[in-house]
Amino acid sequence: TVSENPSTAGSRILVFVRLRPMAKKEKEAGSRCCVRIVNRRDLYLTEFANENDYLRLKRLRGRHFTFDASFADNATQQEVYSTTTVELVEAVLQGRNGSVFCYGATGAGKTYTMLGTIENPGVMVLAIKDLFTKIRQRSSDGNHSVHLSYLEVYNETVRDLLSPGRPLVLREDKQGIVAAGLTQYRAYSTDEVMAMLQQGNQNRTTEPTRANETSSRSHAILQVVVEYRVKDAAMNVVNRVGKLSLIDLAGSERALATDQRTLRSLEGANINRSLLALSSCINALVEGKKHIPYRNSKLTQLLKDSLGGACNTVMIANISPSNLSFGETQNTLHWADRAK
Ligand code: ADP
Ligand code: MG
Repeated sequence: TVSENPSTAGSRILVFVRLRPMAKKEKEAGSRCCVRIVNRRDLYLTEFANENDYLRLKRLRGRHFTFDASFADNATQQEVYSTTTVELVEAVLQGRNGSVFCYGATGAGKTYTMLGTIENPGVMVLAIKDLFTKIRQRSSDGNHSVHLSYLEVYNETVRDLLSPGRPLVLREDKQGIVAAGLTQYRAYSTDEVMAMLQQGNQNRTTEPTRANETSSRSHAILQVVVEYRVKDAAMNVVNRVGKLSLIDLAGSERALATDQRTLRSLEGANINRSLLALSSCINALVEGKKHIPYRNSKLTQLLKDSLGGACNTVMIANISPSNLSFGETQNTLHWADRAK
């Protein structure tokens, strides 16, 4: 349930893990599964030394992690959406901001979770669909408008994915930090949204050497702004605005910092500044610090009003089951564990 009074709500970060199915390529390379999920919460990670260890899987427990929920490789998109994001959609209708991140190495399933496919739409599409359903259910008590913007942060440059062109400049105004000239797409129904998001995803930056593949350094941010005109107790018309940010983060494999010191030295080397800055902000929020270093990157500036404070923040860590990705999986799980 969502608090009616935003100011009294806490800002704990909910942390989920999603295991994707073993890929054909991983199977062909002779992969073994190194992750086991039990009770929908507890996760065990084991690095197999040999065939015997694999056969002893049931007794070999490995390193134990526990999250708000752990999704096994057969979890549906709907299940992931309902468990992680449905309450944030409800909160946005109450005028409260929220954000959902997918974090993990390249190939771990972030884009599948966020965007999905035509047959299996992901969190972005399901959230918008649900939003329209909820709006229709309560259309008698006010007027709504839904605006979408879809943008990319790549090498500290912000671009509009709905209307690609020159980089956007971030400005601070009364509403907070805004990307000047960003397309605000008025959405009336779900049908048009998937096509639009897929087109937007096509506009993400690719590496020159891999022209058809989205760069692992690109962050994609979908922002859904819901404006809601309601009458308050005194029958005055008031505007309620809520913003939901859904973020498909850059691959975490280049940002393997697990402590503050490594983090700072990596920052010096300018390795995905936005991802490192997000880690710093989340750590500061989790530790209850007063100063949250939002200013350190474009991503954290854009999300300043959607992280911490009275906002809901959800993290979905995506992992591969293959022992060939053991190191990346271990790093992702440690990172997720510290975000709790
Ligand atoms: P990332 O965005 O983290 O680099 P992708 O989402 O592109 O990774 O996933 C890599 C591949 O695995 C894609 O072909 C994708 O369709 C597939 N995949 C990822 N997660 C799942 C899942 N839960 N079920 C089925 N296929 C998945
Ligand atoms: Mg991706």
